[in-house]
Amino acid sequence: METIGPRVRTIPVRCAPSQAPCLDCGKLGRCKAIHHRRVRTLACKRVVYLDVTYGEYRARCRCCKTFRTTPLGVELKAL
Ligand SMILES: [Zn+2]
Repeated sequence: METIGPRVRTIPVRCAPSQAPCLDCGKLGRCKAIHHRRVRTLACKRVVYLDVTYGEYRARCRCCKTFRTTPLGVELKAL
């Protein structure tokens, strides 16, 4: 008898516009690189991952050198 594993689903989420506001002051930064990461999310009786595409931006302010975007509801650096 074989066991049936949980159903796994992946939902693509894109969050990488060409410009994005700095997280501290809101000044627009220009996209420097695009990254991907897989984030586990909550679902009933199945395994669901978000395939998050996010941007790394060069800041034009003095808050930081670079910053990254994240979709609404997903913490920065969450897996
Ligand atoms: Zn700033």
